[in-house]
This record gives sequence, C-alpha cells and structure tokens, in this order.
Amino acid sequence: MATNYFDRDSETVSRADLQTLQETRLRSLLGRLKERVPFYRQALADTGVDSAHVTLADLNRLPFTRKDDLRARYPFGLLAVGRSELARVHASSGTTGKLTVVGYSAADLDLLAEVNARCLVMAGARPGMMLHNAYGYGLFTGGLGLHAGAERLGMTVVPVSGGMTERQVSLIQDFGPDVIACTPSFGLTLAQALAERGVAPDEISISLAVVGAEPWTESLRSRLEAGLDARASNIYGLSEVIGPGVSSECVEHRSGSHINEDHFLPEVVDPQTGQAVPEGEDGVLVLTTLTKEALPLLRYWTGDVASLTSEPCPCGRTLARMSLVRGRTDDMIVVRGTNVFPSQVEAALGKVAELAPHYRLIVRRDDTLDEVTVAVEVTPATETRLAETRLAVEADELRDAELEQRTGRAVRETVGCSMQIRLVRPGGLERSQGGKLSRVVDQRELS
Ligand SMILES: [Zn+2]
Repeated sequence: MATNYFDRDSETVSRADLQTLQETRLRSLLGRLKERVPFYRQALADTGVDSAHVTLADLNRLPFTRKDDLRARYPFGLLAVGRSELARVHASSGTTGKLTVVGYSAADLDLLAEVNARCLVMAGARPGMMLHNAYGYGLFTGGLGLHAGAERLGMTVVPVSGGMTERQVSLIQDFGPDVIACTPSFGLTLAQALAERGVAPDEISISLAVVGAEPWTESLRSRLEAGLDARASNIYGLSEVIGPGVSSECVEHRSGSHINEDHFLPEVVDPQTGQAVPEGEDGVLVLTTLTKEALPLLRYWTGDVASLTSEPCPCGRTLARMSLVRGRTDDMIVVRGTNVFPSQVEAALGKVAELAPHYRLIVRRDDTLDEVTVAVEVTPATETRLAETRLAVEADELRDAELEQRTGRAVRETVGCSMQIRLVRPGGLERSQGGKLSRVVDQRELS
C-alpha cells in the first residue's frame, strides 16, 4: 500500500531543511516570548543567550518551563496574546492542586486541527471514514482535538465523548464506524461490554483504533486489538503543548510515534541533571512549541518518560519518533530504592494468561518502607475455575496461592522488586469512563 500523508512536504522534509526551519522558528519564538511574557523576559535575560542568533546547539542553555510555572500564574499569566485574541480555553486537572489552564488563538486552533489530521492519517484513517470519537469532550483537549482533526481530514465524526458504555456499544453496532479514538483503558471497557453482549470482535465494523492519553504497553495493545478486532496506533499529546496531535505512530510500522517536529521541538533529558541523553535512551520528554501563539512554551518539562530516534522510518516520514511513554515521573513510585512505573507492572501482568488487563497499584508505608500491593482482576474463565475449586473467598477477593506466586514472580522479574498480589473478581476494579485513569492509589499520606 502506498503511504498517504496529510502534508507530504512537512512530513518528509529533509532533516537539514527541518533543522533550518526549527531554528528560524525558535528565534521568532524567543523574540515573542521576550516581548510579550514577563516570566520569559526575566528567565531569558538571565541566560545571556542571543535570541536573534540562537541555534539548536544552544537549547540546553535555555530555561525549562514546568507545570508549576503554569499553576503559579493561574489562570492566564503566561499568555502571549491579549484576552480578546483568545479563541478558546482548555484545562487539565492534575491529581492534586489547581487546574492547568491553556489558551488558543484562532491560529492555534487551526494548528490543532492540522496536527490531528496528520496523526489520523498516520494511524490509517482516510477521508470519508467514520470516526467514533470516545475521547472526553469539554475542558479536556482530547475530544475536541481529535474532532477538529477528523473534520479537517474529511471524516464523518460521531462526537460520543466518554462514559455511557452501553450506549456507545449500541452506537458502534448501529452506525458502523471505521475508526475509534479512545484511551486504552476505555477501549478495554468497550471491548468487555461488547463481549458481555455476546458480540464477537469481528462482528463490529471498527478496523482502526487511535489510542492515547495514558501510558500503555504492547501487552495492552495486543489485548485491545483482540477485543476490538482493530489495528491500534498510539497518539500522543498533552494540553500544555497543544492537546492530542504532538505525535502518532504510523500504522504501517508502529515503532515509535512521529513527532510533528516542525511545530513541536523535542528533547529527551536526564530527569536529575536536565542534560540531554543520547538517542534511544530513556529520559524526560521536553517539548518547545515553535509556532503556538497564545501559550507558547519553551522547553516544557512533560514529566513523561520516553526515548527518541531520528532514524529513517520505512513509511517515508522523516519526523523523529518517540517511544511509547514508559510512565510519568510523577507516577513513578520508589520501592526500596527501585524506580517503578505502572507500565512495567502492566507488562509483567500481561505475561500471565489468567489475568485481565485491569489493575491498580496500592502504595502503603509500613514503618519507613513503601509496600506495594498489585490488585489485579482475573479473567472470567479463571473466576469460574476458582469457584469450582472453592478457592474463592469473601467479597471481591479471590485466592489462588499458585497463581499469586506466579504473578508475583513475573512482577519481580520485570520490575526488579517484590510486590504483594491481590486477585480480584472480573469487574471488581473501577473502570475508565473515558478520562485519564490513575493506576496508582497512594495511601502513604493516610497511614
Ligand atoms: Zn513511520
């Protein structure tokens, strides 16, 4: 199949031309930040960098921007345009504290549509296809971001948003969409609801899934693809940088997500030192918005842990690729000196056939040591087997010493430290309703 691009020139530009464009845009960005945003005027003056002649080699002399910088200037303190030029406001809620507010000019909304259209084509979508958009609409950027991209591409959009799983299942059966966009956890919720209705995965029309907004793993991808009988590609973004549309996997190869580098300049840095790490090594993803007007951000510290490669991709795109996000530095838990991301535990659980891909990590503090319990659902078949052997006990918990030991071993081998395993009946853990799902329940403050 010949690869299609939404914007061939931008997506297959030579690396040399891309670098020239990035440097031109970086100079213009620094000029605007100095002129219009007091926070950056101060921060840039301290660096002594000549913004008119800056090159990519100077990047590491420029200051990072962190989520706390946005929160401290809540709601509009970092905007580079007047309020009357603001076309839309979105916001994201963290697990704690204030909303992080982001603003868009008319040109920013145009860019949001453009980069999402690119990502949809990368994921295999084409004009005329129908998109079942189960990303949340509202202050969250996911729903409206994909919506704009799909319209720009010329798709038929069904703006379902998150939640109301039963109705979504009916709509999928009745409308016959080609593509679904959703978080991985909500995709599993839908797959399970279809199975409970007795609908086989190949009886639904969906053939492509555009999946993101949460860190996820290859084992979860396999389960999702089996459950929906669809080819699932990762899409990545974050509201502070634009929303969805920062990067996407090409459906042909799916070995890393192509970053729309002409608009979002990526770096991967060491989380402790802030220094660039070599290509292929994990670190914190840092993004500079090269073209955004209302909320341009310099070296935004995403907190997402990933690696980067600029190796050519067989799809023909020259845009650098980022790995699946391994986790977030703020989701990272430290257990007896070992850094643990929920995605590592997920990968371990994926190796045990009796388990379903629904889990939580419960972190407690016993004396001074952090102890982690993995609560994980078993499959319905496993529940039946345990019920027959009378191993099932009270409430939602199940006991099977052999399965617990085997699961514990898989976790220890993958993650590098021991965790307690608690088996839970199918449906015993809360499901995603389309928003972001937190895998970690931190009870350390309470104990
Ligand atoms: Zn590619």
